[in-house]
Amino acid sequence: MKLRIAIQKSGRLYEDSVQLLKECGIDLRNVKDRLKTESDNFPLEVFFLRDDDIPQYVEDGVADIGIVGENVLYEKNKKATIVEKLGFGKCRLSVAIPRIQQYEGVQSLQGKRIATSYPFLVNEFLAKNNIQAEIHEISGSVEIAPGIGLADVVADLVSSGSTLLMNGLKEVEVLLQSQAVLIRNNSLNAEQQKLVEKLVFRIRAVKKAKHNKYILLNAPNDKVKEIIALLPGMKSPTVLPLAEEGWSSVHSVLSEDTFWDIIEQLKAAGAQGILVVPIEKMIM
Ligand code: ATP
Ligand code: MG
Repeated sequence: MKLRIAIQKSGRLYEDSVQLLKECGIDLRNVKDRLKTESDNFPLEVFFLRDDDIPQYVEDGVADIGIVGENVLYEKNKKATIVEKLGFGKCRLSVAIPRIQQYEGVQSLQGKRIATSYPFLVNEFLAKNNIQAEIHEISGSVEIAPGIGLADVVADLVSSGSTLLMNGLKEVEVLLQSQAVLIRNNSLNAEQQKLVEKLVFRIRAVKKAKHNKYILLNAPNDKVKEIIALLPGMKSPTVLPLAEEGWSSVHSVLSEDTFWDIIEQLKAAGAQGILVVPIEKMIM
């Protein structure tokens, strides 16, 4: 038996999805037409699809699992379960209006024409806020709609905001924060479920490793205690004697969030020759 995964055929999620599988130690056979491929070292079959179709395929069980943006998953409103947030494809679904216009809260959207590729989510937002507005569904280049007179405002995906800026728009409401997620069909059998768990175990090890760095440093023995107190480590730091009398080498793992703060404190506490190396996998 093979687990079938649906990923984006091309576009913003393609590279990261394939890369993630690779980092999980899953090699994919190269297929020219790229509709479908499989792995020789993990029981996985990969379907390449438009991201819009992935929630449906997973709901129907044509694919057992899929990688898709939360924005698409919620817009399509299909039955599938999020197994794991993947940390890439981060963006938000926002309402933007022409920069020159005043905005005084959601009431400003009353009676407006909204261009969007996300009619379901926008409708939900409007209903929740008691706003009557006209939704114009378009499938791409939403940001040009106000400029060409098709709509007054837009609801579109934003990451840096530079596309909005280039089109004279400003972001006024965030409807949804989104990232790529691994989803699964709601009625997998025990064997499929086992394989999903195996995959998720690997994904977590990869994510965890990306978030952490391995650090090695030298310190005079009389400073080691103080230095150890600064290091969280997985259990406790490793301390090894150096060839030079009175010196030790200290090894530990640091999270990216606290990394620079702790490095400074380590230096101040007398650490020298600090080396920082990436971690490939981290199994807790
Ligand atoms: P497809 O041909 O598969 O339908 P698409 O054109 O709908 O592709 P892409 O533009 O490749 O989709 O975006 C795929 C996903 O990447 C989005 O649904 C979203 O989850 C994520 N994403 C991250 N940042 C952005 C962004 N700035 N703009 C659009 N999508 C983004
Ligand atoms: Mg799409």
